Amino acid sequence: QAKALGRSRSVVFELAMASDQLAYYLLERDLNEAVERDQLSLVFQPKVDLNSHKVVGLEALVRWNHPTRGQNSPAAFIPIAEHSDQIIAIDRWVMRSAIAEQARWRTGDMARLPVSINLSTVDILSPNLVVYLTQLLRDYGVPPDALEIEVTESCIMRELAPTQSVLRDLNDNGIATALDDFGTGFSSLSYLRQLPLQCLKIDQSFTHSMLQDPNAETLTEAIVAMGLALKMVIVAEGVETREQMNWLQAHGCHIGQGYFFSPPVPPEDVRHVIDRIEMRLAH
Ligand code: C2E
Ligand code: MG
Ligand code: MG
Ligand code: MG
Repeated sequence: QAKALGRSRSVVFELAMASDQLAYYLLERDLNEAVERDQLSLVFQPKVDLNSHKVVGLEALVRWNHPTRGQNSPAAFIPIAEHSDQIIAIDRWVMRSAIAEQARWRTGDMARLPVSINLSTVDILSPNLVVYLTQLLRDYGVPPDALEIEVTESCIMRELAPTQSVLRDLNDNGIATALDDFGTGFSSLSYLRQLPLQCLKIDQSFTHSMLQDPNAETLTEAIVAMGLALKMVIVAEGVETREQMNWLQAHGCHIGQGYFFSPPVPPEDVRHVIDRIEMRLAH
Protein backbone atom coordinates (compact mmCIF):
# COMPACT_ATOMS: atom_id res chain seq x y z
CA GLN A 1 0.00 0.00 0.00
CA ALA A 2 2.82 2.36 0.89
CA LYS A 3 4.36 1.48 -2.42
CA ALA A 4 1.18 2.24 -4.34
CA LEU A 5 0.87 5.51 -2.53
CA GLY A 6 4.47 6.28 -3.36
CA ARG A 7 3.87 5.55 -7.02
CA SER A 8 0.75 7.65 -7.27
CA ARG A 9 2.56 10.46 -5.50
CA SER A 10 5.33 10.31 -8.00
CA VAL A 11 2.83 10.33 -10.88
CA VAL A 12 1.24 13.43 -9.42
CA PHE A 13 4.67 14.92 -9.02
CA GLU A 14 5.62 14.15 -12.61
CA LEU A 15 2.36 15.61 -13.89
CA ALA A 16 2.97 18.75 -11.88
CA MET A 17 6.48 18.93 -13.28
CA ALA A 18 5.23 18.45 -16.82
CA SER A 19 2.64 21.17 -16.47
CA ASP A 20 5.26 23.50 -14.96
CA GLN A 21 7.53 22.76 -17.86
CA LEU A 22 4.71 23.33 -20.31
CA ALA A 23 3.84 26.65 -18.70
CA TYR A 24 7.50 27.61 -18.80
CA TYR A 25 7.81 26.58 -22.43
CA LEU A 26 4.68 28.51 -23.46
CA LEU A 27 5.82 31.61 -21.64
CA GLU A 28 9.26 31.40 -23.17
CA ARG A 29 7.79 30.95 -26.65
CA ASP A 30 5.44 33.92 -26.34
CA LEU A 31 8.13 36.08 -24.78
CA ASN A 32 10.01 35.84 -28.08
CA GLU A 33 7.29 37.88 -29.71
CA ALA A 34 6.57 40.26 -26.87
CA VAL A 35 8.92 42.97 -28.11
CA GLU A 36 8.00 42.63 -31.80
CA ARG A 37 4.28 42.59 -31.11
CA ASP A 38 4.46 45.65 -28.93
CA GLN A 39 3.17 43.84 -25.83
CA LEU A 40 5.55 45.47 -23.38
CA SER A 41 4.88 48.69 -21.51
CA LEU A 42 6.46 50.66 -18.72
CA VAL A 43 5.06 51.86 -15.43
CA PHE A 44 6.83 54.35 -13.17
CA GLN A 45 7.03 54.45 -9.38
CA PRO A 46 7.98 57.71 -7.62
CA LYS A 47 10.85 57.94 -5.13
CA VAL A 48 10.19 60.41 -2.33
CA ASP A 49 12.75 62.43 -0.35
CA LEU A 50 11.88 61.69 3.29
CA ASN A 51 13.04 65.13 4.50
CA SER A 52 11.73 67.52 1.85
CA HIS A 53 8.72 65.31 0.97
CA LYS A 54 9.37 65.98 -2.69
CA VAL A 55 9.43 63.37 -5.45
CA VAL A 56 13.08 63.09 -6.48
CA GLY A 57 13.07 60.28 -9.03
CA LEU A 58 11.12 57.53 -10.77
CA GLU A 59 11.79 53.82 -11.22
CA ALA A 60 10.78 52.30 -14.55
CA LEU A 61 9.27 48.80 -14.23
CA VAL A 62 8.35 46.63 -17.19
CA ARG A 63 4.90 45.11 -17.78
CA TRP A 64 3.97 42.41 -20.30
CA ASN A 65 0.43 42.49 -21.53
CA HIS A 66 -0.19 39.07 -22.99
CA PRO A 67 -3.12 38.90 -25.45
CA THR A 68 -4.80 35.95 -23.69
CA ARG A 69 -3.13 35.64 -20.31
CA GLY A 70 -3.39 39.33 -19.43
CA GLN A 71 -0.74 41.13 -17.45
CA ASN A 72 2.23 38.96 -16.47
CA SER A 73 4.35 39.91 -13.47
CA PRO A 74 8.02 40.62 -14.19
CA ALA A 75 8.82 38.48 -11.16
CA ALA A 76 7.52 35.55 -13.27
CA PHE A 77 8.83 36.33 -16.75
CA ILE A 78 12.12 38.17 -16.11
CA PRO A 79 13.80 34.99 -14.77
CA ILE A 80 12.65 33.07 -17.86
CA ALA A 81 13.91 35.84 -20.11
CA GLU A 82 17.24 35.84 -18.28
CA HIS A 83 17.58 32.12 -18.75
CA SER A 84 17.04 32.30 -22.52
CA ASP A 85 18.92 35.57 -23.15
CA GLN A 86 15.69 37.20 -24.37
CA ILE A 87 16.32 39.60 -21.53
CA ILE A 88 18.73 41.57 -23.72
CA ALA A 89 16.06 42.45 -26.28
CA ILE A 90 13.53 43.18 -23.52
CA ASP A 91 15.85 45.40 -21.52
CA ARG A 92 17.08 47.24 -24.60
CA TRP A 93 13.44 47.98 -25.30
CA VAL A 94 13.08 49.15 -21.66
CA MET A 95 16.15 51.41 -21.93
CA ARG A 96 14.94 52.99 -25.17
CA SER A 97 11.38 53.49 -23.93
CA ALA A 98 12.40 54.90 -20.55
CA ILE A 99 14.81 57.37 -22.15
CA ALA A 100 12.22 58.33 -24.80
CA GLU A 101 9.68 58.97 -22.01
CA GLN A 102 12.25 60.98 -20.10
CA ALA A 103 12.91 63.11 -23.21
CA ARG A 104 9.18 63.76 -23.56
CA TRP A 105 8.89 64.85 -19.91
CA ARG A 106 11.81 67.21 -20.21
CA THR A 107 10.19 69.14 -23.01
CA GLY A 108 6.92 69.40 -21.09
CA ASP A 109 6.36 70.93 -17.66
CA MET A 110 7.36 67.74 -15.83
CA ALA A 111 9.92 68.23 -13.13
CA ARG A 112 13.35 67.02 -14.24
CA LEU A 113 13.41 63.73 -12.43
CA PRO A 114 16.01 61.03 -12.96
CA VAL A 115 14.67 57.65 -14.08
CA SER A 116 16.08 54.34 -12.79
CA ILE A 117 16.17 51.21 -14.91
CA ASN A 118 16.67 47.63 -13.65
CA LEU A 119 19.28 45.59 -15.46
CA SER A 120 20.06 41.87 -15.18
CA THR A 121 23.48 40.23 -15.07
CA VAL A 122 23.05 39.18 -18.70
CA ASP A 123 22.58 42.85 -19.72
CA ILE A 124 25.51 44.03 -17.66
CA LEU A 125 27.76 41.45 -19.29
CA SER A 126 26.39 41.96 -22.82
CA PRO A 127 28.81 43.64 -25.23
CA ASN A 128 28.40 47.35 -25.87
CA LEU A 129 25.90 48.04 -23.09
CA VAL A 130 27.47 51.35 -22.15
CA VAL A 131 27.90 52.39 -25.79
CA TYR A 132 24.24 51.52 -26.42
CA LEU A 133 23.08 53.57 -23.43
CA THR A 134 25.23 56.63 -24.10
CA GLN A 135 24.17 56.62 -27.75
CA LEU A 136 20.49 56.47 -26.70
CA LEU A 137 21.00 59.41 -24.35
CA ARG A 138 22.60 61.41 -27.16
CA ASP A 139 19.86 60.46 -29.67
CA TYR A 140 17.13 61.62 -27.30
CA GLY A 141 19.02 64.62 -25.91
CA VAL A 142 18.81 63.34 -22.33
CA PRO A 143 21.78 64.09 -20.01
CA PRO A 144 23.42 61.08 -18.31
CA ASP A 145 22.57 62.34 -14.82
CA ALA A 146 18.88 61.83 -15.69
CA LEU A 147 19.49 58.07 -15.71
CA GLU A 148 20.33 55.58 -12.98
CA ILE A 149 21.02 51.85 -13.34
CA GLU A 150 19.86 49.39 -10.65
CA VAL A 151 21.64 46.05 -10.28
CA THR A 152 21.07 43.33 -7.71
CA GLU A 153 23.46 41.77 -5.27
CA SER A 154 23.30 38.41 -7.03
CA CYS A 155 24.47 40.08 -10.23
CA ILE A 156 27.48 41.48 -8.48
CA MET A 157 28.31 38.32 -6.59
CA ARG A 158 28.16 36.12 -9.68
CA GLU A 159 30.46 38.21 -11.82
CA LEU A 160 32.31 40.58 -9.55
CA ALA A 161 35.19 41.77 -11.72
CA PRO A 162 33.28 42.35 -14.99
CA THR A 163 30.34 43.95 -13.16
CA GLN A 164 32.71 46.25 -11.34
CA SER A 165 34.25 47.41 -14.61
CA VAL A 166 30.86 48.01 -16.28
CA LEU A 167 29.61 49.98 -13.26
CA ARG A 168 32.77 52.09 -13.35
CA ASP A 169 32.28 52.69 -17.07
CA LEU A 170 28.70 53.83 -16.41
CA ASN A 171 29.95 56.21 -13.69
CA ASP A 172 32.68 57.54 -15.98
CA ASN A 173 29.93 58.39 -18.45
CA GLY A 174 27.97 60.27 -15.78
CA ILE A 175 25.38 57.52 -15.12
CA ALA A 176 24.72 56.72 -11.45
CA THR A 177 24.39 53.17 -10.16
CA ALA A 178 22.31 51.62 -7.38
CA LEU A 179 22.37 48.29 -5.55
CA ASP A 180 18.82 46.86 -5.55
CA ASP A 181 17.22 44.47 -3.01
CA PHE A 182 20.08 44.95 -0.57
CA GLY A 183 20.11 42.47 2.29
CA THR A 184 18.61 39.54 0.38
CA GLY A 185 21.82 38.31 -1.26
CA PHE A 186 25.10 37.41 0.27
CA SER A 187 27.34 40.28 -0.67
CA SER A 188 29.97 41.01 1.89
CA LEU A 189 30.55 44.47 3.22
CA SER A 190 34.03 44.59 1.72
CA TYR A 191 32.54 44.22 -1.77
CA LEU A 192 30.17 47.03 -1.12
CA ARG A 193 33.06 49.31 -0.27
CA GLN A 194 34.93 48.40 -3.48
CA LEU A 195 32.03 48.82 -5.87
CA PRO A 196 31.27 51.98 -7.82
CA LEU A 197 27.72 52.38 -6.44
CA GLN A 198 26.11 55.64 -5.35
CA CYS A 199 22.87 54.31 -3.98
CA LEU A 200 21.78 51.48 -1.70
CA LYS A 201 18.21 50.20 -1.91
CA ILE A 202 17.13 48.35 1.22
CA ASP A 203 14.99 45.37 0.26
CA GLN A 204 11.29 45.63 1.06
CA SER A 205 11.41 42.58 3.34
CA PHE A 206 13.23 44.80 5.89
CA THR A 207 10.79 47.67 5.51
CA HIS A 208 7.86 45.29 6.02
CA SER A 209 9.20 43.57 9.13
CA MET A 210 11.21 46.23 10.95
CA LEU A 211 8.31 47.54 13.05
CA GLN A 212 7.14 44.04 14.04
CA ASP A 213 10.39 42.23 14.59
CA PRO A 214 13.12 43.73 16.83
CA ASN A 215 15.82 41.75 15.02
CA ALA A 216 14.71 43.13 11.68
CA GLU A 217 14.68 46.61 13.21
CA THR A 218 18.26 46.22 14.44
CA LEU A 219 19.37 44.93 11.05
CA THR A 220 17.67 47.79 9.22
CA GLU A 221 19.36 50.29 11.54
CA ALA A 222 22.70 48.65 10.83
CA ILE A 223 22.16 48.74 7.06
CA VAL A 224 21.24 52.44 7.15
CA ALA A 225 24.26 53.23 9.36
CA MET A 226 26.54 51.31 7.01
CA GLY A 227 25.19 53.04 3.91
CA LEU A 228 25.60 56.42 5.59
CA ALA A 229 29.19 55.57 6.56
CA LEU A 230 29.89 54.70 2.91
CA LYS A 231 28.30 58.04 1.89
CA MET A 232 25.66 56.33 -0.22
CA VAL A 233 22.16 57.57 -0.91
CA ILE A 234 19.84 55.21 0.95
CA VAL A 235 16.47 54.24 -0.48
CA ALA A 236 13.96 52.06 1.39
CA GLU A 237 11.76 49.92 -0.86
CA GLY A 238 8.24 48.80 -0.05
CA VAL A 239 7.14 51.65 2.24
CA GLU A 240 3.46 50.93 2.88
CA THR A 241 2.60 52.90 6.04
CA ARG A 242 3.16 56.32 7.54
CA GLU A 243 4.80 54.63 10.57
CA GLN A 244 7.41 53.02 8.33
CA MET A 245 8.04 56.35 6.61
CA ASN A 246 8.50 58.09 9.96
CA TRP A 247 10.84 55.42 11.31
CA LEU A 248 13.00 55.57 8.17
CA GLN A 249 13.16 59.35 8.25
CA ALA A 250 14.11 59.32 11.95
CA HIS A 251 16.91 56.81 11.31
CA GLY A 252 18.56 58.79 8.53
CA CYS A 253 17.25 57.00 5.43
CA HIS A 254 17.10 59.52 2.59
CA ILE A 255 14.45 58.26 0.20
CA GLY A 256 11.35 56.07 0.34
CA GLN A 257 9.51 54.18 -2.35
CA GLY A 258 6.33 52.14 -1.94
CA TYR A 259 2.56 51.86 -2.02
CA PHE A 260 2.23 54.41 0.81
CA PHE A 261 3.30 57.05 -1.72
CA SER A 262 2.11 55.39 -4.92
CA PRO A 263 2.17 52.09 -6.80
CA PRO A 264 3.92 52.16 -10.19
CA VAL A 265 1.68 54.03 -12.68
CA PRO A 266 1.56 54.46 -16.48
CA PRO A 267 3.51 57.44 -17.84
CA GLU A 268 0.43 59.56 -18.47
CA ASP A 269 -0.45 59.45 -14.75
CA VAL A 270 2.98 60.35 -13.39
CA ARG A 271 2.46 64.12 -13.34
CA HIS A 272 -0.81 63.80 -11.41
CA VAL A 273 0.62 61.26 -8.95
CA ILE A 274 3.59 63.50 -8.12
CA ASP A 275 1.26 66.43 -7.37
CA ARG A 276 -0.94 64.22 -5.21
CA ILE A 277 1.96 62.81 -3.17
CA GLU A 278 3.49 66.22 -2.53
CA MET A 279 0.14 67.74 -1.61
CA ARG A 280 -0.69 64.90 0.81
CA LEU A 281 2.70 65.05 2.56
CA ALA A 282 2.58 68.83 2.93
CA HIS A 283 -0.22 68.40 5.51
P1 C2E B 1 12.54 45.73 -7.93
O1 C2E B 1 13.41 46.43 -8.91
O2 C2E B 1 13.08 45.54 -6.57
O3 C2E B 1 11.19 46.56 -7.93
C1 C2E B 1 10.36 46.68 -6.81
C2 C2E B 1 9.13 45.80 -6.93
O4 C2E B 1 8.33 45.98 -5.75
C3 C2E B 1 8.21 46.15 -8.07
O5 C2E B 1 7.58 44.94 -8.48
C4 C2E B 1 7.19 47.08 -7.43
O6 C2E B 1 5.97 47.14 -8.12
C5 C2E B 1 7.03 46.44 -6.09
N1 C2E B 1 6.62 47.39 -5.04
C6 C2E B 1 6.81 48.72 -5.00
N2 C2E B 1 6.33 49.27 -3.86
C7 C2E B 1 5.83 48.22 -3.13
C8 C2E B 1 5.18 48.13 -1.84
O7 C2E B 1 4.99 49.12 -1.13
N3 C2E B 1 4.81 46.89 -1.42
C9 C2E B 1 5.02 45.78 -2.19
N4 C2E B 1 4.62 44.61 -1.71
N5 C2E B 1 5.62 45.83 -3.42
C10 C2E B 1 6.01 47.04 -3.88
P2 C2E B 1 7.47 44.52 -10.00
O8 C2E B 1 7.17 45.72 -10.87
O9 C2E B 1 6.55 43.36 -10.06
O10 C2E B 1 8.94 44.06 -10.36
C11 C2E B 1 9.52 42.95 -9.72
C12 C2E B 1 10.98 42.84 -10.06
O11 C2E B 1 11.17 42.54 -11.45
C13 C2E B 1 11.77 44.14 -9.84
O12 C2E B 1 12.13 44.27 -8.49
C14 C2E B 1 12.97 43.90 -10.74
O13 C2E B 1 13.93 43.10 -10.09
C15 C2E B 1 12.36 43.10 -11.89
N6 C2E B 1 12.09 44.04 -13.01
C16 C2E B 1 11.07 44.89 -13.18
N7 C2E B 1 11.19 45.59 -14.34
C17 C2E B 1 12.35 45.16 -14.90
C18 C2E B 1 13.05 45.48 -16.13
O14 C2E B 1 12.66 46.36 -16.93
N8 C2E B 1 14.21 44.80 -16.37
C19 C2E B 1 14.70 43.85 -15.52
N9 C2E B 1 15.85 43.22 -15.84
N10 C2E B 1 14.08 43.55 -14.37
C20 C2E B 1 12.92 44.18 -14.06
MG1 MG C 1 14.62 48.05 -8.81
MG1 MG D 1 14.18 46.00 -5.16
MG1 MG E 1 13.06 42.94 -6.25
